[in-house]
Formats: sequence, structure tokens, C-alpha cells
Amino acid sequence: MAQIIDGKSIAANTRRQLASELKELVAAGHPVPHLTAVIVGKDPASEKYVQNKMTACREVGISSETKVLPESTTQEELLQVIAELNQDQRVTGVLVQLPVPEHINERTICNAVDVNKDVDGFNELNIGRLALDMDGIVPATPLGVKLLLEHLNIETRGRNAVVVGRSKNVSLPMAILLHADGKYATQALDATVTICHRYTPPKELARYCRQADIIVVAVGKPGLITKDMVKPGACVIDVGINRIKDEKTGKFKLVGDVDFEEVRQVAGHITPVPGGVGPMTVAMLMHNTLKAAKKQFCERKSS
Ligand code: NAD
Repeated sequence: MAQIIDGKSIAANTRRQLASELKELVAAGHPVPHLTAVIVGKDPASEKYVQNKMTACREVGISSETKVLPESTTQEELLQVIAELNQDQRVTGVLVQLPVPEHINERTICNAVDVNKDVDGFNELNIGRLALDMDGIVPATPLGVKLLLEHLNIETRGRNAVVVGRSKNVSLPMAILLHADGKYATQALDATVTICHRYTPPKELARYCRQADIIVVAVGKPGLITKDMVKPGACVIDVGINRIKDEKTGKFKLVGDVDFEEVRQVAGHITPVPGGVGPMTVAMLMHNTLKAAKKQFCERKSS
């Protein structure tokens, strides 16, 4: 039976550490870091995610606010809001909750956030830095997975890892962090990485997964990873979040992309959904917010 990875408690520990780092920062005479989240339109899942982020900010001691803009907001108007936040010295972190409505170009918006305030790490410069093994802000979900693997002392160097999914905000940075050279600034994990995606034939997906010591799945398809696809003892990290109806209770519940009950019988480690990667993502957003603020305070001092 696999060890169930308690992302909730590892994330709570991380938030406590960040809270004490923040106290030290403020005691040294720096302002309290401030995160502004922007939501465009009404999406219950986005609202819930942002609420969780604001709660974590309060716990860590980061000042925060949410700007809710109507669905009808144009791209130009959103760019104007971002430009004002970029200019505002009090604001040290900016995030635009994704997805944005279809009439707005997501890439244009991610690139508009000041690279130093880009706590999501979605600006092309931050992704570029990560790809080049340079220090920068790393997207919170893959950073959270990395911290989980390190926390559990899961050996990654030279091991086979499969990333299922190829999104630019989750899977691509995950694959970079898994395969890149640990001796550089990103302190990556030195694994041998295979990326599978929607055009990987199911048989091939199963074959690649069976060779993997570490599987990270970020697709959005319940039950995609089954017991027969997992090598005994492998570490299975489930990033997926799917809202499905529980046939027994008739109520909605959250599940991941992994058939948890089956896969836990063969895996060595497994993350649950909820309570695995999700809380780590929020904790790493707090980490990024603190890191971004420290860099800005340092730059202000030296200018
Ligand atoms: P996305 O929709 O951008 O990407 C999904 C990826 O899955 C695509 O790259 C696609 O090629 C791949 N795919 C589709 N069908 C496949 C198949 N049959 N086999 C293999 N690959 C397939 O999604 P995303 O933003 O990367 O998010 C993925 C999932 O992770 C979603 O469920 C999302 O809700 C969840 N998520 C969770 C967190 C967290 O904190 N836990 C954070 C971000 C996203």
C-alpha cells in the first residue's frame, strides 16, 4: 500500500515558515508585501481558488486584495488595470486568475504583468529564465510538486519520470524542473523525462507510465491513470482536479486524474485529491509572493 502524501500538512508547515520569514522582513524595516489578485468575470471555481489564496495570505501575514472586474471588461481595460498595479509601489505581487474570458488573450495578459511582480511565474521572461536554468519566479504548482518530492526524499536523479499533459503553466515547467541540471539556480531534479499528451496513443501512455519511477499527471480526466499503468513502488503525483457527481450520495466531489483506490495498492507514494498538490500550489504562491517582494525591496534599496 502506498504512503499517502499529506500535502495539506506539508503546505501548512511551509506557510508557518513563510510567516516567520515575513516577520523578520518587516522587523528589519521593510513594508508588508502586498498581493493583488484580479478576476475577470464570474467563475465559481476561480472565485474559490482566489479565496483560498487570500486566506493563505492572511495566515502568512501578506496584505492582499481581490479586484473583481466584469465579464465585459475589454483586453485594453484589463491591460490598463495591470499597468496601474505594475506602477503601484505598494503592490509587490500581481496575479490574474486564469482562465480569462475568451475575448481576452491569455498570453498578452500574462506578459503584461511586471516580471518582478509576476508571482504566478507565467510571464514569458520567467518561463524563459526557468528554461535556461536561471533564477526567477517558478509557477506554483510544479514548484509545489518539487517540494513534495524533496520533502519525501524521493530519489529523482537519473530516474525515469513521466509528465502526463503538456500545458504551458503546469506541465511544461514541471517537465523542466524534473529534467534540468540540479547544479544550476533552479535546483532542478536531474530525472529522465518523457512528456505524454492528448496525441500519445493510450497504449503508449500506459507503456511510458509503466517505466516511470515518478508519474506527474495534469490532464483533467478522472480515472486516466489506472493500476496496470503504474510500476510497483512508483511515486504518483496527481495534479488533476475534476468535479464529478458521487453516484452513492448524488453530491459533487473533487477527484484527480488517477484511480486513487486502485493505484494506491501498487504505488510507493501517492497524492490524494483533494489534499495533495492543491494546498502546495497555494503555499508556493505565498513563497513566490515573498520572494518577489524581497527582490523589489532589495532593488529599491540599491537604487
Ligand atoms: P490544460 O487543459 O491546459 O492541459 C491538459 C493537458 O492534458 C493537455 O496538454 C493535453 O494534451 C493533455 N491531455 C488531454 N487528454 C489526454 C490524454 N488522454 N492523455 C494524455 N494527455 C492528455 O490543463 P492544465 O492547466 O495543465 O491543468 C490540468 C489539470 O490540473 C486540470 O484538471 C486542472 O484543474 C488541474 N490543476 C490543478 C492545480 C492544482 O493546484 N492542483 C493547478 C493547476 C491545474
